[in-house]
Amino acid sequence: MATVAFIGLGQMGQPMALNLLKGGEQLRIYDRNPNAMQALTEQGAFSCDSPAEAAEGAEFVITMLPNGDLVKEVLLGEQGVCSKLDSKALLIDMSTIHPLQSDQLREQLAQLGFSYMDAPVGRTSDHAVAGTLLILGGGDATQLERARPLLMKMGSELIEAGGPGMGIRVKLINNYMSIALNALSAEAATLCEGLGLSFDVALEVMQGTPAGKGHFTTTWPNKVLKGDLSPAFMIDLAHKDLGIAMDVANQLHVTMPMGAAARELFSQARAAGRGKQDWTAILEQVRAASGLTSKESTKTN
Ligand code: NAD
Repeated sequence: MATVAFIGLGQMGQPMALNLLKGGEQLRIYDRNPNAMQALTEQGAFSCDSPAEAAEGAEFVITMLPNGDLVKEVLLGEQGVCSKLDSKALLIDMSTIHPLQSDQLREQLAQLGFSYMDAPVGRTSDHAVAGTLLILGGGDATQLERARPLLMKMGSELIEAGGPGMGIRVKLINNYMSIALNALSAEAATLCEGLGLSFDVALEVMQGTPAGKGHFTTTWPNKVLKGDLSPAFMIDLAHKDLGIAMDVANQLHVTMPMGAAARELFSQARAAGRGKQDWTAILEQVRAASGLTSKESTKTN
């Protein structure tokens, strides 16, 4: 049984902390909203008046807070965790914060002699309740092994993200994709409605295509990721199809800002001489525009 300080007991933190309690850990809790602590106190957690008090005697400190400024304040501010923390303790930030701020915090804490790792979570508050979160473990191998028994009481899967700061990086990439895709999906569904097409039919079709399955595992592996840009489906044709979709949307008064941005990107790819390349070459277009060196092979035709 370990003594764990848990700070930030909201939608996610409260059920996560409860699972630690159920798993036999000793909990010292703090939230700036006293009501957030009540349910856990009733289950045997020790409620504290400050992050500093929660940190007293703790072997682990878990933070689950809305943003990086709050994590910094809770750890390093007045009455913060570090004013009372044993230097042998492990700090685990499970919040979703800016990766560069997480790096800065890790370095600042290391200078003060504290060990800090990032371990943000995937999935939702329902999974937090069920103890089936996806945990994205940053940190070095020693930190990960030390944290693993605790993390596995809150989640069902622990991904070793590749070192300090990599958990929060993979979380960012994952959220970027799923949030942007959410907006693109909304455009597709609205266009579907505008066209009088059954959403169920569209869903059935897209479940088996890159539209529903994504490109990382369908079109990319055998083409752009192998440096093969010979066309299975040409940029020129993709540009034409996007143009038709935009024109239809325009006539139906459906707004498609994501689609418009994508069409511009394909226009840039054509202007850069990629019209006859495979549509997965859009990756190389974005890489080139970002100043990254080309990975392209000579197999463009
Ligand atoms: P929330 O707003 O429900 O909970 C945050 C808690 O932190 C609140 O109880 C608040 O009172 C407390 N808090 C804020 N400032 C504090 C301070 N200075 N000291 C002590 N307590 C303080 O948020 P949430 O949904 O639980 O999310 C927490 C983190 O988890 C966020 O970084 C979020 O992006 C991430 N996340 C959320 C979900 C989700 O589905 N809700 C999923 C994955 C990751």
